[in-house]
Amino acid sequence: MPHTDSNFSEDLTTLPSQADVVVIGGGVMGCSTLYHLAKEGVGNAVLLERNKLTSGTTWHSAAQVRALRSTQNLTNLIKYSISLYQALEEETGQNVGWINKGSLSIATNPDRLTHIRRQEALAGLYGVEAVSVSTEEAKDRWPLMHSDDVIGAVWSPDDGRVSPSDLCAALIKGARKRGASIFEDTGVTGIITEGNKIKGVETSRGVIATKHIALCTGLWSRQAAQMAGVEVPVWPCEHFYLLTRPIDGIFGNMPTLSDHDRHLYIRDDSGGLLVGCFEPMGKPIDPDRLGSDFAFQLLPEDWDHFEPMLKHALHRLPVLQDAEVKMLLNGPESFTPDGSFLLGESAETQGFYLGCGMNSVGVATGGGAGWALAHNIVHGAPPMDLHEADPKRFDPSWSDVAALSARVPEVLGKHYEITYPGRQWATSRGLRHLPLHQAWQTENAYFGQAYGYERPLYFDAKQTPTLTFDQPDWFDQVGREVNHVSKGIGVTDLSSFGKIDVTGKDALTALEWIMSNRIDRPVGSVIYSLMLNEKGCILSDLTIFRLDDQHFRLYVGTAALKRDLAWIKRQMKEDWDVSIHDVTLSYATLGLMGSDAANFAVSMGANWLNEIAYFRHAKGEIAGFEVMAGRLSYVGAPGWEITCASSDSMALYKFMKTKGVKPVGAFAQSAMRIEKQFLSYGHDIDTDNTPEQLGLMFAVKSKTPFIGLEAVKARAGKTPEKTLATLIFDQKDFTPIGNEPVLDISGQIIGKTTSASFGYRAGAPIALALLKTHAIHQDAKCHVNIAGNLASARISQRPAFDPDGNLMRSKL
Ligand SMILES: Cc1cc2nc3c(=O)[nH]c(=O)nc-3n(C[C@H](O)[C@H](O)[C@H](O)COP(=O)(O)OP(=O)(O)OC[C@H]3O[C@@H](n4cnc5c(N)ncnc54)[C@H](O)[C@@H]3O)c2cc1C
Repeated sequence: MPHTDSNFSEDLTTLPSQADVVVIGGGVMGCSTLYHLAKEGVGNAVLLERNKLTSGTTWHSAAQVRALRSTQNLTNLIKYSISLYQALEEETGQNVGWINKGSLSIATNPDRLTHIRRQEALAGLYGVEAVSVSTEEAKDRWPLMHSDDVIGAVWSPDDGRVSPSDLCAALIKGARKRGASIFEDTGVTGIITEGNKIKGVETSRGVIATKHIALCTGLWSRQAAQMAGVEVPVWPCEHFYLLTRPIDGIFGNMPTLSDHDRHLYIRDDSGGLLVGCFEPMGKPIDPDRLGSDFAFQLLPEDWDHFEPMLKHALHRLPVLQDAEVKMLLNGPESFTPDGSFLLGESAETQGFYLGCGMNSVGVATGGGAGWALAHNIVHGAPPMDLHEADPKRFDPSWSDVAALSARVPEVLGKHYEITYPGRQWATSRGLRHLPLHQAWQTENAYFGQAYGYERPLYFDAKQTPTLTFDQPDWFDQVGREVNHVSKGIGVTDLSSFGKIDVTGKDALTALEWIMSNRIDRPVGSVIYSLMLNEKGCILSDLTIFRLDDQHFRLYVGTAALKRDLAWIKRQMKEDWDVSIHDVTLSYATLGLMGSDAANFAVSMGANWLNEIAYFRHAKGEIAGFEVMAGRLSYVGAPGWEITCASSDSMALYKFMKTKGVKPVGAFAQSAMRIEKQFLSYGHDIDTDNTPEQLGLMFAVKSKTPFIGLEAVKARAGKTPEKTLATLIFDQKDFTPIGNEPVLDISGQIIGKTTSASFGYRAGAPIALALLKTHAIHQDAKCHVNIAGNLASARISQRPAFDPDGNLMRSKL
């Protein structure tokens, strides 16, 4: 029940003039963040809520807590929530209504069964209980369920639910006990910044000076962030659950029943049923329509919209036929363009931290997410890698309301979709086009969206592919594209890579401080480097071209641009003479790679390309166009990454095509980089990893001090607990996709795959895997658990293809 008559607020005349941290918003995210700030020792943290605590979305949440998420760290956040929710009553005396009855996920088609079996395997890896049960056992756990079409189920005993208002009450009690203060009926009306730094907040009751703000304003976060000059891609959808009056056959609390094929979750509620849904296409709602006084309110029932879900529910629970409906609850909840929340410091404004866009898991994640946000504010980084939630992951094109509001209904629907490999978004496509977009359309490219860009995944696409967990529809096309590289010459579009120019008298000094590799190399050098944090863990990997004594061009990952720019800018010292410019859109980059590279250069009249040594670059002309070519390879073949003015790229490509180059998409590139044990940020690399673990110490060679050096030195001589290795599968008919547990032959989990593909040149499925170091021996056997099936593989410390790199380094 909502706490409408709140006794949480301080005396409103005592609003302080200064606070170490101001938390804006008193939903579960704000309450949890405040509690954890206080626990971290921030004595004078203040929470400002313009209405009453929990009055936004939190009060009407179904408040289910499912432990398993798609990654280890997102799961860890919920595991943390569960232990917190179990402990809060003892600490604060406030019961939080934690009910641990588990959850049951049923499958009614073979792909869903594979999906839930993959989840079961992941649960084992992430330390969450989950076990396959027969249809009969599932029926025993949920006797009211119609089970004729159920072909399997997974039982997860750790899951539960909580009372969201009581949870917030307990968090507030705990925070207050430690010195934090709470002001209800106190709206933030302005945010004061100076030089892109937070200075304070203006409220309906006066100004509070502060250097740190935690923005926990739920579905209002986009508007609230604009007060600080920050773009936050959060937009609400209407979100429904049906409540019935008591029903015969419901005794006490029951597990949550998930029928994701029918978009439903079902549980008991006060002797009746609560039937919630994630329908395939949600209903967006403009937050301005709700207004700032939308407190403890709901949206109108919409039976037309809910009707298909009701039909599904009647199928699964025939008992509903005679049930008396209490209400169709419709409440707004916020969503982001990729379905993951926002946690961390904004790129635009220093000291402005986001904890919002919870995508319908705010109560489950809230305990852990509040802890991580408070940790981030106090210690400068979250307690673990949370790149999936990094607010800097979104392209600015998401500030377009039309794109955002068109995407979020699909995000809501995807919540329960089968996570097929290669699935793409249907809405808000075409936000950004590569300079060669039209050419790729002519080549029948099948596009995927990355950081707003439409990137060709593969070519010669006959129709929209049918998604599957087995051999993908695009298997043959990708094979042909790999062949272009191994037998001829292929071109990959790398134009979406972020490009950052660093210039000035102190550019070298700055980069030597920020980068782990030695940057002071001759003009013409190409340098692969890492950026490390103070813990010596990897923030980013990138390639640097030294164009001149005082001019460096950094090529960073497509989705890393905003994050890396913000990091680099924040490391600058006041007395340095350095300019930093994002030049991404000015230039196109084409990867021209293949065994026939040398002849191809000659046929283009660009013999100078063949003179460039490995990891060097040079300027020259191709067909009259000025280009810069770097000799390096992400696919293990000889060739160059060629950068030209974006405006020249179409003519240049057309010229290359007349000479016989063939387009190669991102899937083929990925297959080849995995064979070469080349890593990809977000898959094989994140901030939990060290260079030692990933075999990247060759890029930690700076002779001058750099960020992270002390931590690296402190680890010297110690064997890392985990190390990256290649797995070469014994049989071709397994399709690993990454994120699968790896077991030794005795059945012990020794790690997980981080990315995987069929290796066309190696002739077998290949995975990269982070394994316990002691388990890694050349050619040792292991098993990969793919949806419950054990695939045998061989462990290799070296790449599966051309392990010495002779091909890509070969003299041209
Ligand atoms: C029908 C439904 C079912 C759900 N079921 C589940 C579930 O089973 N499990 C789960 O984990 N999650 C569930 N959720 C989602 C979950 O409830 C939300 O993710 C969560 O409550 C969001 O909390 P929040 O703190 O981010 O936002 P809110 O609770 O909305 O809090 C934001 C607060 O910020 C305040 N605010 C806004 N602007 C200002 C300002 N300028 N100044 C001061 N204050 C301001 C607002 O008044 C509001 O109180 C469900 C949601 C809905 C709608």
